[in-house]
Amino acid sequence: MSSGPLLPAPERVLPTLNADGTRRRIRPRLYPGRYYRARLLTAWALIALFVAIPFIHLNGKPLILLDVPAREFTLFGRTFLATDGVLLMLLMISIFLGIIWLTALVGRAWCGWGCPQTVYMEYVFRPVERLIEGDRSEQLKLDERGPNLRRLLKYPVFAVLSVLVANVFLAYFVGVAALWQWVRQSPFEHPTPFLVMAVTAGLVMFDFAYFREQMCTVICPYARLQSVLLDRRSLVVGYDARRGEPRSHGKPTAESGDCIDCKACVVACPTGIDIREGLQLECIACTQCVDACDSIMDRIDKPRGLIRYGSQQSLEEGKQVGLLRARVLLYPALIAVFVSALVVVGARQASADVTVLRGIGAPYVEQPDGVRNQLRVKIENRSGQARDYRIELLNAPDLQLIAPEIPLPVAHGTHRTTTVFVLAPRTSFAGGKRTVRLRVSDGSGLEHEQEYQLLGPY
Ligand code: SF4
Ligand code: SF4
Repeated sequence: MSSGPLLPAPERVLPTLNADGTRRRIRPRLYPGRYYRARLLTAWALIALFVAIPFIHLNGKPLILLDVPAREFTLFGRTFLATDGVLLMLLMISIFLGIIWLTALVGRAWCGWGCPQTVYMEYVFRPVERLIEGDRSEQLKLDERGPNLRRLLKYPVFAVLSVLVANVFLAYFVGVAALWQWVRQSPFEHPTPFLVMAVTAGLVMFDFAYFREQMCTVICPYARLQSVLLDRRSLVVGYDARRGEPRSHGKPTAESGDCIDCKACVVACPTGIDIREGLQLECIACTQCVDACDSIMDRIDKPRGLIRYGSQQSLEEGKQVGLLRARVLLYPALIAVFVSALVVVGARQASADVTVLRGIGAPYVEQPDGVRNQLRVKIENRSGQARDYRIELLNAPDLQLIAPEIPLPVAHGTHRTTTVFVLAPRTSFAGGKRTVRLRVSDGSGLEHEQEYQLLGPY
C-alpha cells in the first residue's frame, strides 16, 4: 500500500501546504530595500501609537476605552452607550465604506503596511527569530535537523513579547489605571482579568510562533473580500510580464525579458507565493518581492520596478492608468453623507434617554380620592456625570403626582427605573382616557417632555 497522500491534489491548494497536505513552512529571506525601510518606520510608529493610546486622554476621557462589561465604548473623547445603536451603526457603516474605498484605491495597502498581523510578524517576531536562528538558509538547515535547542531558545522571548502585547491590548478594555493596579497584585486577586490576559497572550503566541501567514491566507475575511473590492485599476503589487517575459536563466539576452528566474521574489514572500503568476488572494501587498527584485535588477544593471506598485490594467497595457474613476469618487461622497448624519444625530442627542412605561398589573385603580395610574419611568444617564432627575406634570393643577424617589439620582452611564403614581379626579376622563404631559429635567439643560395617556373609568 502506498504511503503517499490518499487523494493527491492535482495542483497547488495553498502556498502553505505541501502536496501531501502537510504544512509548508515559509522562511522568507530578508531584502532590506527602500520599501522595507519605509515600512519599518511605519511599523514602529504604529507600535508606539498602539502602546501610547491607552495613556492619551481627550475631554477627560481615554482616547479609546472599550468597557465591555459596562457596555460603554469611548472613542476619541466621546462615550457611546449600548443604547446608541443608531450612532454606532452610522460609525460602523462609515468605517466599512472607508475600508471599501481604500481597497478600491490602493488595494491591500492596509495588509502590507498597517495590519497588526504584518506589523508584529515582520517587525517584532520575525526579527527576533532571525536574531536567534539566523537568516533563511540557517533556518532551513534547522528545519532539516528537527527540534533543537537553538530553535527552542526563541520561545521564551516570544512568550515575553506575547504577554507584553496582551497587556497593552487589555489596557484598551480596562484602562491603564486598572491594568497597573492588577500588574502589581497577585493574579488570585483578579482571576478573571488575569485569565483574559493569559488567553490573549496564548493566542498571540500561537499566532506569531506557529500559525503566522495562515492568518492572512486562511482566516482573514478581508482577504476573501479582496476579489470583490478590487478592480483592474486598483493599486496592487504586480509583476510586469510585458517586461519580464520570456524569462532567462542568468543574464538577460537580446531575446529574453528582464526576469532571470532567480526566484528572489519568491523566497522573499512571507505568504509563499510567486507574484509572477498574477494577483493572488494570498498577496498582502507587503512589497518584500519589490525590494528583492529591485536588488536583483541593480545587480544585473537593469532598471528597477520589474515588480512594482501599479494597477493590473497599467501593468498589462504598459502605460500609466489613473486611479480616479466613478466608484472611488462615489465612496467618499457616501462616507460624507454617513459622517454628516453621525455628527447631526450625535449633536442632537439628549444627555439622557427617558422611557415612560405603564405600571405592571391593573391599568388603573379607583380609590376614594380619585383614580390612580401607575407609571414606570426609566432614565439612562449619558451626560458624563452623576445627575439628579426631577419628574413633574405640566399644566395639570387638578392632578397629583406621587413620586417617592424624586429627585432620582442616576450615576453616569447607568440607568434607573422609578415608579410614580398620578392621582386624577374620577370625572376628568373622557372616554376612559386623559392625556397629560410629563417633564423630566436635571437642572443642567435636560428638559425632556412627552405626552402620556392616563386610563380611567368611562
Ligand atoms: S507577492 Fe510580494 S507583495 Fe505579495 S505577499 Fe508576497 S512578497 Fe508581499
Ligand atoms: S526577483 Fe525579479 S528577476 Fe528574480 S525571479 Fe523574481 S521577478 Fe524574476
